[in-house]
Amino acid sequence: MKAEIIAVGSELLTPDCLDTNSLFLSERLTEAGFRVHLKTIVGDVHEDIAGAVRAALGRSDLILLCGGLGPTEDDLTRTAVATVLGRPVAIDEGILQTLRERFAARGFRMAKINERQAELIQGAEVIDNPLGTAPGMWIEEKGRHIVLLPGPPREIKPMLERTVLSKIRSIAEGERLDSRCFHVTGLTESELDSRIAPIYTAYPDVNTTLLAGTRHISVKLCRWTKSGETTSKLDELAGLIQAELGDSIFSARGEFMEEVVGQLLKRSGRTLAVAESCTGGMLGMQITRVPGSSEYFLGGVICYSNEAKMKLCRVPREVLHKHGAVSAEAAEAMASGVREALNSSIGISITGIAGPGGGSREKPVGLVYIGFSDGNHPESRHRIMPGDRDSIRERSVYLALSWLRRKLL
Ligand code: ATP
Ligand code: MG
Repeated sequence: MKAEIIAVGSELLTPDCLDTNSLFLSERLTEAGFRVHLKTIVGDVHEDIAGAVRAALGRSDLILLCGGLGPTEDDLTRTAVATVLGRPVAIDEGILQTLRERFAARGFRMAKINERQAELIQGAEVIDNPLGTAPGMWIEEKGRHIVLLPGPPREIKPMLERTVLSKIRSIAEGERLDSRCFHVTGLTESELDSRIAPIYTAYPDVNTTLLAGTRHISVKLCRWTKSGETTSKLDELAGLIQAELGDSIFSARGEFMEEVVGQLLKRSGRTLAVAESCTGGMLGMQITRVPGSSEYFLGGVICYSNEAKMKLCRVPREVLHKHGAVSAEAAEAMASGVREALNSSIGISITGIAGPGGGSREKPVGLVYIGFSDGNHPESRHRIMPGDRDSIRERSVYLALSWLRRKLL
């Protein structure tokens, strides 16, 4: 069944206010088995609201409106919906009484304009709003359902949980969205797509999307299934994609790289220490985001200056003098140095030029070395990262983590 959301409020059309209601509304609707196929934002304009509702009635089984139920002149949702449905609006004595009591309980006399909030569209069912003055409404019209909810997120959420969701579930037809998500590393988006497109295009009823972030690429497979139907099509496609991509998939359960690395370290009983220059602690921060990381992460040093590299990681002065702080030799010495200093099984280091200044022809901005030491001969890798200072630093952390994963596999 199809659902759509109409967010009402002129403020939502300005740069100052974001429509966040539709995010959790669509999440809950999808969970309940509705396909959210359209979202609209309209200003506080009677014809615009009415136009959106009229169009929605022609294409959706369930229409959720939020906002514009307040007491002021610009709150027009009630009257606009009533106009479209050709139903009268009348003061509901029960709501009016509740409103008066709410005001009295807080020591106020209710203003005349608040009476508008007691207006009920004929045939509507009232949805209590325990945290606000404007009640919501549920209206059935020729087999379609229209739900009016207030704008403030703190009011809408309890209304959804208390009453609206159970009603939504009761009209749903038992469809559900099944999905699988793979996190992929080490491939560009086009490389990835050229490998899996021949596979997923043979499954037109599964919606396959690739989403590239600064860190990894997500491949998401979604399919609506009717009740009683199996998920075999989805499983089949997921299996084929997994077989094609192998260990380029670092998680099939939505985990991030630092979590996967943490699990590998824990499983192998090894400990980790880090030495960071251009990332200034970001690698340690990522690693310690994971609860329980104290089991394998011993600590790290931020050795930003040459002095710190020599003092804290025992990088030999000649290495820095001969090869520079951004070099394979320095990265390897940092990794070995921090491993020895903290007595960990593995040491990882990052040293690079994050920019915007400090680059040269031989060592351009974005050049980053990752060092690795596990007690055998230390190793390093380098790459020239694109982007600005922040993204060079972010990508460096990710590169270090994903190389560490490879080493632990
Ligand atoms: P009220 O009785 O508070 O006036 P209302 O139903 O008239 O309720 P609006 O006036 O439309 O609601 O919105 C009140 C406030 O709620 C807005 O100022 C805004 O901060 C927030 N709000 C409204 N719509 C949304 C939305 N779609 N997403 C996030 N916040 C919203
Ligand atoms: Mg309002």
